[in-house]
Amino acid sequence: MSLKNGKAIIFNGATKPLEETEFPLPKKLDKEEILVKISLSTVCGSDVHTWQGKRPFPTPCILGHEIVGKIVEMGNEIKNDFSGNSLEKGDRIVWSMTANCGECYFCKVVKIPQKCEHLFKYGHVASDKYPHFTGGFSQYVVLPRGSSVFKIPSELSDEEVAPLMCAGACIMNGFDLAGLTKCDYVAVQGCGALGMYSCAFAKELGAKKVIAIEPIEERLQLAKEFGADYLINESNESEEMIVKKVLEITKGRGVDYGIEAVGIPEAIQTGFKMLRIGGKYIIYGAIYPGDKVTIDSFEITTKCLQLFGVHNYSPIHLEKTINLVRQVKDKYPFKKIVGPSFELSKDGIEAALKSQESRSSLRPAIIPK
Ligand SMILES: [Zn+2]
Ligand SMILES: [Zn+2]
Repeated sequence: MSLKNGKAIIFNGATKPLEETEFPLPKKLDKEEILVKISLSTVCGSDVHTWQGKRPFPTPCILGHEIVGKIVEMGNEIKNDFSGNSLEKGDRIVWSMTANCGECYFCKVVKIPQKCEHLFKYGHVASDKYPHFTGGFSQYVVLPRGSSVFKIPSELSDEEVAPLMCAGACIMNGFDLAGLTKCDYVAVQGCGALGMYSCAFAKELGAKKVIAIEPIEERLQLAKEFGADYLINESNESEEMIVKKVLEITKGRGVDYGIEAVGIPEAIQTGFKMLRIGGKYIIYGAIYPGDKVTIDSFEITTKCLQLFGVHNYSPIHLEKTINLVRQVKDKYPFKKIVGPSFELSKDGIEAALKSQESRSSLRPAIIPK
């Protein structure tokens, strides 16, 4: 490998400006490492939360954990991807957001590898030490041992794949956990990227009707393209009215599954009231420490409700998500989730984060040169 550098944008903490820097590319990779040249990264809502200082975070760091790119070089023990397809230099790949050890209590016994005792999480690791290239807002990324890689099917574009690495696969994990299958009604609270995937995946996994709830009309209309049958614009609506509308749609019974994809704790209170007896509620978005919510425990017991908290996913969920999106790519406008595009520069990343923060785009894209 030639002695080259790669450009990266560094996050130094919430109140500090982003910084453009260069790191040296690894001279020799470890036998299980892969060097990837990034072709596209997307900005996740949690990148914005970190940038705003809403959660504790190691710095300096390269943010970005929804990434696709091509293999530049790989360690000599890498032969196949997670699904068993052979891997070669130049292959276009995506990978699980977390790398895990495969040996610890959480990997082996509990089987929640995303909570591995030796976890590595892309876009969440300090970049001051080797391999430096640990996040998506960069020209390159180094995948450490324990990463689960997937060769991208040729019929899927970078845009259709990048957000699956966080948003898409997280949704799949929650649906798996809650056993979402043939059912009458699913309510999706929040039509950001998580919400769009929720609508489409719920329909594909067997929901007869999906109810999308969201204050931005444009997003609701897009949710319709992702399979939502009923749209509730919640701006200027009281919680009581929203619940009333859901109950009217479901003939007074309530929904089988409620999906919280908003990131606002109050939505959980509203969501619980929409559930039918025996209903299941999946929480994705509420992820800052200190977010409190009041839930009537009487309601949980007497309505026999079940609650599922979802944080990240295991590689099998990313595999399932890629396969599903591949099958139904012509039914839903997955590409519309991504954009506009920004360049890999200090100003480009700042503009992309602002675009996500102002909710003017679902997944701003970073395209390095
Ligand atoms: Zn994310
Ligand atoms: Zn482990």
